[in-house]
Amino acid sequence: MVFGFALGPAPATLAPPMSSSPAAALLSVAPGDLPDMAGLGGHPRGLTTLFFTEMWERFSYYGMRALLVYFMVAPVAAGGLAYDNRKAGIIYGTYTMCVYMLCIPGGFVADNFLGGRRSVFCGGLIIALGHFTLALPSEAAFFGGLVLITFGTGLLKPNISSMVGSLYPPGDPRRDGGFSLFYMGINLGAFNGPLITGWLAQSDEFKRLLAGWGLDPVHSWHWGFAAAGVGMTLGLVVYLITGRRLVQVGRPPAAGTRPWRPLGLVLLGAAAVLAVVLLSDLNPDFAWIRYGYVVLPVLAILWFGFQVSLDAKRIAAVLVFSLAAVVFWAIFEQAGSTIALFGDQLTRTEVLGYRFPSAWFQSVNSVFVILLAPVFGWLWVRLGANQPSAPFKFTLGLGFLALSFLLMVPAARLTIEGRVSPLWIVGLFFLQTVGELLLSPVGLSTMTKLAPPKLLGLIMGIWFLADALGNQLAGVLAGEFTSTDGNVLAAFFLKQALWVGVAAVALLAGVPWVKKLMGGVK
Ligand code: GLN
Repeated sequence: MVFGFALGPAPATLAPPMSSSPAAALLSVAPGDLPDMAGLGGHPRGLTTLFFTEMWERFSYYGMRALLVYFMVAPVAAGGLAYDNRKAGIIYGTYTMCVYMLCIPGGFVADNFLGGRRSVFCGGLIIALGHFTLALPSEAAFFGGLVLITFGTGLLKPNISSMVGSLYPPGDPRRDGGFSLFYMGINLGAFNGPLITGWLAQSDEFKRLLAGWGLDPVHSWHWGFAAAGVGMTLGLVVYLITGRRLVQVGRPPAAGTRPWRPLGLVLLGAAAVLAVVLLSDLNPDFAWIRYGYVVLPVLAILWFGFQVSLDAKRIAAVLVFSLAAVVFWAIFEQAGSTIALFGDQLTRTEVLGYRFPSAWFQSVNSVFVILLAPVFGWLWVRLGANQPSAPFKFTLGLGFLALSFLLMVPAARLTIEGRVSPLWIVGLFFLQTVGELLLSPVGLSTMTKLAPPKLLGLIMGIWFLADALGNQLAGVLAGEFTSTDGNVLAAFFLKQALWVGVAAVALLAGVPWVKKLMGGVK
């Protein structure tokens, strides 16, 4: 099953014979192996493998993403592609959308063809190749590299998460804790990636080093991209060396007929959504298609919500959460575009006399996740049965997100007088991270609880689709960013804050109904 968060160990069938090489050991398991629970903090030892692999994958993902928009808008003389904000925003949005959209076929391929382990390995290999392709200074290599990374991430990201779920037997109380640790791994990588790639790509120190080695410093971007590739390669090495710890998790499915036709349909569906979205981006006459992101889910919510069956009602609740997630990611995922540009062009990038690369702002969200995730973990345990319902947490999540953009309204006005303090962005990320922790992990676990068991893969696919569409909208919105008029920029932030505020109020009004739709799921 795709994204099997709620699943127990995979069936112990058809294990290929053991072999002595690490690669073969990773891709095969001995029959009868059981998951061991002797790892860190009483978790299965396989969690360490998945933790470090995902840490390095996210290092590469966020390390590269921190440079992506800067590289696209930098002038040719500075080694960039000299795109305008709109073009860079659309490419950023389309790329990040594809990353999440391809998680749907990626999960399907693992379930029906390769199994989780091989999918993660192949995905990681393709990702590393993608980053090394970006390291070549040519526009064709740039697009080729992005395509490789989207396919690789589609294979790796959903399946590494579902393997975390499969480490635990059904009903194991340590599962949530395991996911919290895993989320920490994600953010350790996401914290370190931009620090390293940003220093390589943007700092004067490294540019001087390059010049000293007789190399052209304008190509420093590509050293940053290469570092992302090195990170993913380290992740693959860890995965190969410690893969045995996964024991029987993520085996390939039993041999038999392979569902090529449904795979074709899934790929065709993803391509069709991509084509429609691109049409709305590239031809202004079709921009109205974007209203469909909201109108279609609303119609589906009403249709499912007024059915008699409990499963249909729960699907309506899933759709409400997913729609809220589209709105959330559309703002939150501007971190790498709008906020990145604000940080680079309108913020003082200096602390205690040290000029830091603007890409470092991308690490702030992860620092707050690492600091705040344990606080939330403690709070939910402390509140126990008295904790807010999932739809109310979502409402709060949207509320904090609206506040984060509201905070940027005075910051934008202040830019009229010159560069502003970096603390504005730190404040923004604090509010956004509180919102993220109220929505993202809550959403993931609520999806697994609401999904009728047979539809778990589909429901997780809907959740990733919400991420994909949100990312796409984030790119479209970021295209409106301006660094030359503080008042227009203030209106840009205010409009979006109000938009999210309205969504939060609408969700708040719907909380009692959504609770009813959930039919007893907390
Ligand atoms: N930061 C998290 C990750 O990279 C979640 C991001 C998202 O779902 N948009 O996994």
